[in-house]
Amino acid sequence: MEKIEMNRIILIKYGELTTKKDNRKIFVNALYSDIVTKLKGLEIYIHKDLGRMYIEFNEKDLDYIVSRVSQVFGIHAFTVAYKVETDLSLIDKTLLHVLEKIDFHTFKVETKRSDKSFPILSTDFSKRIGGLILKNKKDIKVDVHHPEITFHIEIRHDYTYLYFEEYRGAGGYPNGTLGKGLLMLSGGIDSPVAGYMAMKRGIHIDCVYFEAIPHTSIEARNKVIALSKKLMNYQNNLNLYVVPFTSIQEAIYKNCDNTYIITIMRRMMYRIMEKLVNKYHAQVIINGESVGQVASQTLTSMRVINSVTNIPVIRPLACLDKLDIIAISEKIDTYNISILPYEDCCTVFVPRHPVINPQLDKCLMEEEKFNYTEMIDEAINNVMLIKIEDDKKEYDGLL
Ligand code: ATP
Ligand code: MG
Repeated sequence: MEKIEMNRIILIKYGELTTKKDNRKIFVNALYSDIVTKLKGLEIYIHKDLGRMYIEFNEKDLDYIVSRVSQVFGIHAFTVAYKVETDLSLIDKTLLHVLEKIDFHTFKVETKRSDKSFPILSTDFSKRIGGLILKNKKDIKVDVHHPEITFHIEIRHDYTYLYFEEYRGAGGYPNGTLGKGLLMLSGGIDSPVAGYMAMKRGIHIDCVYFEAIPHTSIEARNKVIALSKKLMNYQNNLNLYVVPFTSIQEAIYKNCDNTYIITIMRRMMYRIMEKLVNKYHAQVIINGESVGQVASQTLTSMRVINSVTNIPVIRPLACLDKLDIIAISEKIDTYNISILPYEDCCTVFVPRHPVINPQLDKCLMEEEKFNYTEMIDEAINNVMLIKIEDDKKEYDGLL
């Protein structure tokens, strides 16, 4: 058989963005720039249109590209396709070469003809290709309902794409297309999962970690850095803001009713979050609260805590079971970091009997016992920024 050049490309199918007609261009451009950044340093060429994206690549980079592209939100599915000029004999030859490489028992053919000037109708073309496959492969038959393999043929004006394997994309919307949020990131299991889910909705996140050194350790901070790095995989860069929270926590501990410590501490966190959201031009707060999980996450607690701010608080885990949350944390590879045993500021100061149904009046009374406004300003002025960027290996050795 005559040798032909087999060119493969990655063909990217967009996710939900295709349903948002007016925004499509913005979304496609954002996706394009996310992919370019993710694949930086490789010899590639990307072509985009409003329906698809095509990446030309070096075969040696394929596995790496597949792993990187799988992390980009806004991609519904992608496939490695054979690209040939739209010419009947070339399409046939490519198909025959492909058939040599694969084994299957049942199949079907699906043709899409975006070039309507192409002289053969899609159904007729599928039949024609089906005939060719049956003639050239033994012991196989067509099964239109549950085929082992589906040959997709997309006929465009210049080129035709042939593929039969599809990878699932990460779904969601391209990063940042829905705006920016600040994620309250503790070292626990929940908050990284909440961050991942928010990012999937197209929210660019930066993280905020409340730190109470010396009551919490530098290892606890490194754990949060390691988690931030995992989250950064989904968006190319990420800012981690470390808020010095020691003096506020000590003041609460010293002055306030012991059973209200957590409620008031969380109200202080939310007050600080509101200021940070404004300072860093974000739109929302995101956190890992889940209804009923701990005393501060009863509905009464949530209402009393939330009442210090009007900024929307997104709680992606609000109604998820812990086991479901753990399953996601395993999927995004944060679980093993989250379960490392370093205490964070909530666990250090946790009272024996935290109030389950806190009263707003009582909170206000307790909060009058120390000058928190000044302390909040002081904390905000001393926020430390840690920039988490791609390709930076320096955080790897931290844990
Ligand atoms: P996680 O496992 O994520 O820590 P949790 O079950 O321990 O959550 P809480 O400690 O009550 O729950 O905290 C609820 C949410 O508040 C966390 O998911 C996180 O978003 C935020 N939070 C708690 N502690 C901190 C902290 N030290 N810094 C930043 N955010 C925090
Ligand atoms: Mg926690």
